[in-house]
Amino acid sequence: MMNHGCVFCNSLGGELLWQNDLCRIVLVDDPNYVGFCRVILNKHVKEMTDLSDAERLHLMQITFKVEQVLRDVLQPTKINLASLGNKTPHIHWHVIPRFETDIHFPETIWSVEVRQTNKPNIVGLFAILKTKLAEALV
Ligand SMILES: [Zn+2]
Repeated sequence: MMNHGCVFCNSLGGELLWQNDLCRIVLVDDPNYVGFCRVILNKHVKEMTDLSDAERLHLMQITFKVEQVLRDVLQPTKINLASLGNKTPHIHWHVIPRFETDIHFPETIWSVEVRQTNKPNIVGLFAILKTKLAEALV
């Protein structure tokens, strides 16, 4: 199943950290949000309830592993776990480490900015996350 107008059918949606037959984990290139990951289903499916029970459970297990790895590596103030899909109705979970100092906190990352901040830059984060996810998702 593929939809030619869909960004997640036509691109990885970020820098590839891990994948299996069901889904992939990518690191999103957003300078304001270090460690922002997406878990993207590999096929074009709109709603979680369109999946089989086994697929849905597996997808969420992987998503929570991403959350745990991000917590371990970044110690964020909060994890935001979000699934919207209004613009891109292809199942994907945003896993977003949030910090009290980020440009929107405590609002959503899609809200109006509430402050300017210096962007944290973590050298080697992609490699660290890739290694930790490979260990967590065996
Ligand atoms: Zn799609």
